[in-house]
Amino acid sequence: MRKHSPIRSKTSYRRQGVVILTLIIAIICCAVAIGVFVAADLFSKRGISIAIESSSDISSGSLTTPQTESVVTLDPTPSESSDVTESTKTSETEPTDTTERVPPTIPTGITGPDLTGYVVVLDPGHQLKPNREQEPLSPTMSGSKDKVSAGTQGVTTGRPEYEVNLEIGVLLRDYLESLGCTVYMTRTENDVNISNIERAQFALSYTPDAYIRLHCDGSSDPNRKGIGVFIADSGKHKDKLPGWSDLLGNALSEATGAKYRGYNASSRYSGLNWATDIPSFLLEMGFMTNPEEDILLSHPEYQLRICEGIANFVSQMPLNPDRPTNLD
Ligand SMILES: [Zn+2]
Repeated sequence: MRKHSPIRSKTSYRRQGVVILTLIIAIICCAVAIGVFVAADLFSKRGISIAIESSSDISSGSLTTPQTESVVTLDPTPSESSDVTESTKTSETEPTDTTERVPPTIPTGITGPDLTGYVVVLDPGHQLKPNREQEPLSPTMSGSKDKVSAGTQGVTTGRPEYEVNLEIGVLLRDYLESLGCTVYMTRTENDVNISNIERAQFALSYTPDAYIRLHCDGSSDPNRKGIGVFIADSGKHKDKLPGWSDLLGNALSEATGAKYRGYNASSRYSGLNWATDIPSFLLEMGFMTNPEEDILLSHPEYQLRICEGIANFVSQMPLNPDRPTNLD
């Protein structure tokens, strides 16, 4: 065997070293190049999503219909649920001057389903001043809740939720009555003090075909929007409530064009837990923390669409067989 000379051996080692060094440099260059590509890709996608979001503005002067999206189920633990977290919500929006606001009215000669014989109780959620006194969460479970929580506030309009709830409630009462429905309201003023249990007991006393609690939603995410329905997860109507909730949500979605986010059955709503003997629903009509829906919820034409959707829902409900028949 031939031996390598020391000089050849040194040269060989040097060549090998150069090759290895070149390989290392090439690998580093590749890694850097891949990194740059990934970063550039992420940046361009982010740029597109920002562009899409910023193009969805609406003007307050004209009513635009949001795109209807596929039905999804609400989060099992919705953080925006008004009765649960509204007390922790704050808004820095200055309330706008609403003293000159003209209450919406229904146009003459509206058409809709014949609601003769139906009885509906409406509860415009919240009131001027929240009531932090506690009342039992449920007739069957331990725990307590605020008698009336604060509600959310319009991120664009600055309007408090209790005011919008009542405005739509009064319009809805007139709308349903014009179609032959009998309607009772838990409140027709903002400056009242009626707890959620008292509202439930008021509703129970009429054995209605539907007890609808009117609310607007709030979230820390301004992009969240759409319609939600909350129901009790117990009581005599437990099995039928999910189907009825979908009737309500879909009817409202069809009339307004807003997305129905699905229903959520929960035991955390005192106002529902105390009214499980009647078909009771907490309807979140839209998000006041979403700039677009906040404006829509105060728009007279959109409010009429909400009324239309709820009227269509009522017409699909069975008459409550528990209601005593009128013998007069
Ligand atoms: Zn609410």
